[in-house]
Amino acid sequence: MKNLLDYLQSELKEFIEPKFRAKQIYEWIYKKNAKSFDDMSNLPKELRENLKQNYYIDPLKKLKSEQSKDGSIKYLFELKDGKTIETVLLPMKSETVDEDGKITQHARYTVCVSSQVGCKIGCAFCLTAKGGFVRNLSAGEIVAQVLYLKNENNIPYERRVNVVYMGMGEPLNNLENVAKAVKIFTDNDGLAISPRRQTISTSGLSSQIKKLGEMNLGVLLAISLHAVNDELRDKLMPINRAYDIASVMDAVRNFPIDMRKRVMFEYLMMDGVNDHLSDAKTLVKLLHGIKAKVNLIYFNPHEGSEFKRPSPENMVKFQDYVCAHGVTCTIRQSKGLDISAACGQLKERSRVE
Ligand code: SAH
Ligand code: SF4
Repeated sequence: MKNLLDYLQSELKEFIEPKFRAKQIYEWIYKKNAKSFDDMSNLPKELRENLKQNYYIDPLKKLKSEQSKDGSIKYLFELKDGKTIETVLLPMKSETVDEDGKITQHARYTVCVSSQVGCKIGCAFCLTAKGGFVRNLSAGEIVAQVLYLKNENNIPYERRVNVVYMGMGEPLNNLENVAKAVKIFTDNDGLAISPRRQTISTSGLSSQIKKLGEMNLGVLLAISLHAVNDELRDKLMPINRAYDIASVMDAVRNFPIDMRKRVMFEYLMMDGVNDHLSDAKTLVKLLHGIKAKVNLIYFNPHEGSEFKRPSPENMVKFQDYVCAHGVTCTIRQSKGLDISAACGQLKERSRVE
């Protein structure tokens, strides 16, 4: 049995006759929320039977979901082979209504998707790293996470969500499938999520950033920087030994990005480790000439982690320095802390918990 969500519409057209049926199937899956092939009432019975025998459209089984006080919801899914992944729904803005009850602004959501089961990179601060690497997700397993969360939370088809590849895994270590997921998301007969709403976050695999750039997908890029000198970054993120800071900055400078958009630099603040004003100074220098946005993240503690969260005062001091030197800098109010859905807290869980 194969996952039908793994296919681009153009690929479906290669084996489904007549070709217009491919579009109908796409619409059933992505627009009309079909749960099974039997729902696809405008397909001939023979085709439905044929599809049923060879494909499935439900690669994810929900094992658990947990809602945080701040509204974010973490899902634990089981894949067909029994492996598990996590996906997080992050409400960014809530719905507003005027006195007449008319909606003046729709709710806005971001979906944080996993790209691998586990991760190979092994960053010192990250919980996902602790479980090691298990396998890549297929394109369809990535796409299914957004489809599932939209349906489950009754987010209307027309409401476009943002997608961030910031869940479990290093997306650029699974570039082929991630790039395919970006394209499947983008299809107007599918979820129609523009690449400009999709952000790929990487620990800095310079050669893969270059490849991603050459693919010209139109996605946004986020770099998990976390340290501004190689000595420290080598220790925190082993990938830095293969691709040092200079090579990452080089790859970023050459990355094709929409003129109106910025490259995001994520900077995880760890008390006494990388939160000094001298680090802020070096950071500003590093970013010289790059249209960058810095996102400061509080370290999220987890069991057995050796790092501590910095004080809010230190965060603000760091932020003020960066802002004062002309670089946009925000402090991410980490969501989902109370349910371990925050960044770096996602890990494969066993079924029985
Ligand atoms: N592998 C990719 C994408 C997934 S990680 C990457 O590293 O960019 C998503 C973000 O969570 C990264 O910026 C990562 O560095 C951060 N993160 C990891 N561990 C964390 C922790 N304990 N607290 C807060 N953020 C963490
Ligand atoms: Fe992998 Fe990202 Fe975690 Fe590093 S921070 S181990 S790259 S998921």
